[in-house]
Amino acid sequence: MPEMRRNPITGEWAIIATERAKRPYNHTFDEDVFISGNAHDSTCCFCYGNEHTTPPEVLTYREKPNASNMSGWTLRVVTNKFSALSPDGEFNITNDGSLKSFTYARGNADVVIESPHHTLNTALFPLPQIKLVLKAYRERYIALAKDPLIQYIAIFKNNGIEAGATLSHPHSQIIATPVVPPVIEYEIAGAKKYFKDNNRCVYCDMIEDELKDGSRVIYENEEFLSFAPYASKSPFETWVMPKFHSSCYEDLTNSQLKSLAQVWKITLYKIYKGLDNPPYNYYIHTSPTQQDTKKFYHWHMELIPKMTVLAGFELGTGMCINIAVPEHSAEYLREVI
Ligand SMILES: [Zn+2]
Ligand SMILES: [Zn+2]
Ligand SMILES: [Zn+2]
Repeated sequence: MPEMRRNPITGEWAIIATERAKRPYNHTFDEDVFISGNAHDSTCCFCYGNEHTTPPEVLTYREKPNASNMSGWTLRVVTNKFSALSPDGEFNITNDGSLKSFTYARGNADVVIESPHHTLNTALFPLPQIKLVLKAYRERYIALAKDPLIQYIAIFKNNGIEAGATLSHPHSQIIATPVVPPVIEYEIAGAKKYFKDNNRCVYCDMIEDELKDGSRVIYENEEFLSFAPYASKSPFETWVMPKFHSSCYEDLTNSQLKSLAQVWKITLYKIYKGLDNPPYNYYIHTSPTQQDTKKFYHWHMELIPKMTVLAGFELGTGMCINIAVPEHSAEYLREVI
């Protein structure tokens, strides 16, 4: 029988259509196909030699000191040339008395150029490079959060054309917005209510539950857990959470970053290898910049391989039909070495 499972934080329902569930990927994997791409493309604005074609960098890591906006970097963050939000202009919601509310889209958009290598998949980055990406997220978060008009900072990656990436050079994005997005509002409202009723963090309870059960665990180390959530909305949905309670991603210490990088790298690699380099989106859900959520919110990362399309039922109802059983997905990824 198909099952319905409810997300304990937001209350959202997912339909797990068990009778349709199979392990969708079990053929052999040819790694060479994916690692033979060009390291450099002279026409790519994110490759060495084309630094002048992007807006000036706002953060760079270099092995040797070198002039800014020149080659030789290991990771580079620049302002998005095609930003949907602008750091200039007023954020001031006005209303002309009708139903129309208006404000300038005040905010900021960064592009994190994750590596000088033009085609290397993030899952194949050496561990220190993965750590550098996670560290850049933290540093840019801290810098962007200083703007008093910013309410939320979204950190995310689109991997593959089907997932919305328009350039193949490995990159992710950071967008600072002047409002708290609805998805975060739902999570916060749910976590706040759970805390009020139980005096505990719902995410901490979820971790305890997942570790006790074990069937949805994908990988873990001392400080971080990678698992398939019980009410996964789509096949191979994967969350990574700190096992310790923390509401803010930017509070990660250097040693915690290192530990996160290890779990994140293995998670990305399992998805890459186990599912044949699928298109995916990942994002970090962390506290809004100007709310005190310390007691009840718990930051986490969500990775959604793009294996189904949102169709009429999903768009019209906000409920998803997941054709894979999360326990099977987790078991499958656990076995990918
Ligand atoms: Zn490139
Ligand atoms: Zn917690
Ligand atoms: Zn979330």
